[in-house]
Amino acid sequence: MSAIRPYWQNYIDGKFVDGGAGRLTVDNPGTGKALAEQAVASAEDVDRAVAAARRVHQSGVLAAMRPVERGRMVRAMGDYLLSKIDEIAPVLTLESGKPLWEARIEVEGAARYFEYYGNQAETVEGRSIPLGAGYFDFTLYEPFGVSAQIIPWNYPLEMTARSLSAALATGNSCVIKTPELDPLTNRFFAEAAEQVGLPAGAVNILCGHGQEAGAALAAHPDINQIVFTGSVPTGIAIATAAAGNVVPCVLELGGKSAAIVHDDADLDAFMNDVRWGIYFNAGQVCSAMSRVIVHESQHDELVDRVTALAKSLSVGPGIERDEFGPNMGAMVSQRQRDRAEGMVGEAIRQGASAVTGGHKMNQPGFFLEPTVMTGVAPDMTIANEEVFGPVLSVLKFSDENEAINIANGTPYGLVGGVFTRDLDRATRAAAKLRAGQVFVNEWFAGGVETPFGGYGKSGYGREKGREALWNYVQTKNVAIKLG
Ligand code: NAD
Repeated sequence: MSAIRPYWQNYIDGKFVDGGAGRLTVDNPGTGKALAEQAVASAEDVDRAVAAARRVHQSGVLAAMRPVERGRMVRAMGDYLLSKIDEIAPVLTLESGKPLWEARIEVEGAARYFEYYGNQAETVEGRSIPLGAGYFDFTLYEPFGVSAQIIPWNYPLEMTARSLSAALATGNSCVIKTPELDPLTNRFFAEAAEQVGLPAGAVNILCGHGQEAGAALAAHPDINQIVFTGSVPTGIAIATAAAGNVVPCVLELGGKSAAIVHDDADLDAFMNDVRWGIYFNAGQVCSAMSRVIVHESQHDELVDRVTALAKSLSVGPGIERDEFGPNMGAMVSQRQRDRAEGMVGEAIRQGASAVTGGHKMNQPGFFLEPTVMTGVAPDMTIANEEVFGPVLSVLKFSDENEAINIANGTPYGLVGGVFTRDLDRATRAAAKLRAGQVFVNEWFAGGVETPFGGYGKSGYGREKGREALWNYVQTKNVAIKLG
């Protein structure tokens, strides 16, 4: 393993710079020890970054480019990330706790966004609208200008890639506020922007505290659009700041997503969905399968199988886990781990049982045992609030409507799944589930191409797919009176 650089700077207006608010220490969740220092942006740093991005926007350089050229630049940023995967993935593992093989998937996923949105750049076309003789009318899609993007820690690379690629492809300049817990790998986006020849100021990457740099960015009078991924309370604060400046925002918030498992479901195949659905990234996934609602006839067998699966996972430092397999890394921080453990304890006090797991592990680092909870009733806290950890709650149902009602019974609505061989049942569930994405017989089915976002408290707006392009452009209608 190569030595990690001890100090990482922010990137403002084409230069790597120190932070006006000093430095913070990034821990290695796999050991619990300090890993590196990161520059911390002040509100003045945010001002400089926004001013640089605004200058680039006002120069018109990105919007004036032929879209195919802009698209090639965006795609080349993804190629740059892939060319550095052996350097980026270990840093991502060390700062976030995820296994090395998962970190490699994340780098590839980040690169994929640049490929997809690079390819979309030249598909953003207006239309002409007939107004009868004497008029020529057409629409244009123009970039908003300065796109502010505030990033969570669970997928720091992929979440930045998702918004940055689409914003650049449509001609915006960007200010990214990276997460405090694992900001390091975002540096590679700055390198990529330089490498492909984007003008200084088109991409600014800065880490800072949410309450200071994050809040300053969200409320900045010179930004034109905000993309936020993170928790509900922060989302509300950001939407409020956006409203103050009358700028649009996209909110990708949390979830408490459920898989409905019918009596005819293929349980062998479903174990793979559980593996990915709740133990990938130690369950720190907004669209995690945090609830399974299983038909009573299958309950005991399903619980036996998921318990065996949870017990089979080898849990330890991500850097030692370089191959896909039955393993899991650390949670991102002691605070997140202790919060998840506390929620399990509360569920037990409310009458649920941990059939396996539920405790922090007796080793350095921020590890929580892969956990399966049974006897979970729909009104318990654990059935309604996001744990954001490797904790699966199993609930029972006896008829289809009950299952749908339980699935829809939380304030969230990010994703949902139904597992059955019966096409009619699956179709009914797809129609009735209150969620932005429905998976039938495969959790996480879909990809960068498919729109993603929430109903209810899971947020609004859609990222991924062609839908997301419209977050970054505004429509201008041009009506010409002919002579
Ligand atoms: P968080 O809301 O605490 O922080 C997210 C980001 O917002 C961080 O960069 C943070 O510094 C910043 N921030 C905090 N307070 C701010 C403020 N007042 N103003 C501006 N910025 C501020 O969330 P988190 O703990 O980093 O991430 C976990 C949460 O994110 C979970 O609830 C999870 O479900 C959600 N999430 C959702 C998606 C999605 O796509 N729907 C993806 C990943 C994570």
